Amino acid sequence: MTTEQETQQQEMRCIEEGTVLEPSKTSGEPSMRCPVCSGAWLTDEAFHAVEDKSFPPEMVKGQMRYGEHPTDHPCPHCGEHMTRFRYRGHGLEIEACPNGVGYWLDHGEDRHIKDALKDRRRGLSRSAGAQRDWHRTRRGGSVSIMDRIKSLFGR
Ligand SMILES: [Zn+2]
Ligand SMILES: [Zn+2]
Repeated sequence: MTTEQETQQQEMRCIEEGTVLEPSKTSGEPSMRCPVCSGAWLTDEAFHAVEDKSFPPEMVKGQMRYGEHPTDHPCPHCGEHMTRFRYRGHGLEIEACPNGVGYWLDHGEDRHIKDALKDRRRGLSRSAGAQRDWHRTRRGGSVSIMDRIKSLFGR
């Protein structure tokens, strides 16, 4: 490790009040946490690992960034101004490194992310079920009333 890298790591600071961040875990993934406000920096990799805890990786998560705009918060990693966006159209706002290196989560926002993804997963399984029934009805035209009632109850 070069001296330059060491210096850069020591200088990772909170985007809110500039406190030096400390190694920590967020939803079980490695992060750098502010001891004052409990905000946390997650690398892109750690962030997606947190998402995958609540959402099967094989399902389509859809668009993540809505209404993205620049802020005047310096990124803890590169020092450039972070961008802020509405996470997956929910009321939750998250800040990101403009170079795609990682994300900043305020205290408790990892829980909001998981809740938002659980909502989406429920929505997707509902519409997948509806589509299945529709195809079955269209294909044969032979689906009995009883079968349709059963499928309504997920049997
Ligand atoms: Zn802080
Ligand atoms: Zn950055």
